[in-house]
Amino acid sequence: MTDSFEAKGKRKRMVEELRQKGIADEEVLRAINTVPRHLFMDPAFLSHAYVDKAFPISSGQTISQPFTVAVQTSLLKLKKRDRILEIGTGSGYQAAILAEMGAKVFTIERFREIYLKAQKLLVSLGYHIDFFYGDGYTGKPMYSPFDGIIITAAAAEIPSELLNQLKPGGRMVVPVGGAASQTMTVIEKAEDGSCKYSEHGAFAFVPMLKGTVNGK
Ligand code: SAH
Repeated sequence: MTDSFEAKGKRKRMVEELRQKGIADEEVLRAINTVPRHLFMDPAFLSHAYVDKAFPISSGQTISQPFTVAVQTSLLKLKKRDRILEIGTGSGYQAAILAEMGAKVFTIERFREIYLKAQKLLVSLGYHIDFFYGDGYTGKPMYSPFDGIIITAAAAEIPSELLNQLKPGGRMVVPVGGAASQTMTVIEKAEDGSCKYSEHGAFAFVPMLKGTVNGK
């Protein structure tokens, strides 16, 4: 399965839709126009790959809505070669967008099966990403500090261990809240280590859970 003229056309239209919905970061739009989202979809939903919605992948998890990916990525304000930690690899789509923008991506997934699948796909697409199977709550202290941290699952509270792994001057983007709805929250860590919080609208993610799941 590869890219096609049809998929490229649909992708272009989706990018225009995102632009109309207020996404203005040209680098983010370029990455979304480049990454073939259909390759990240469950075969059952393949024809919906360029519909701006979240869809089921496996183990009750989802591939995020393109608009949500665009908002979170824009809020990260990443620069090329930034070290970005992602919690919740899922389909790998968000990781691909970050890598496409030139970030050095570290991504953690708690479902072994999902981690293996995303890794295989992203390697086959030629992305150089560091994949980890584990509980994202603990982050990756050995690879810290990070210029940016993006959490793509709903956190009941801002995970303090992850905040410790953020570089002074860095940004963390995390949906904070309960099961029904979360508030997209940006934490900017100043050079003196103090944090500034801002809120960026309501979203719906699957929950960020503790521990790992090995097997089906
Ligand atoms: N970024 C993904 C969205 C995945 S949905 C994409 O682009 O498709 C959220 C993912 O977070 C799920 O795969 C879920 O298993 C994972 N997750 C939830 N809690 C986690 C944790 N504590 N550590 C790592 N991954 C976690």
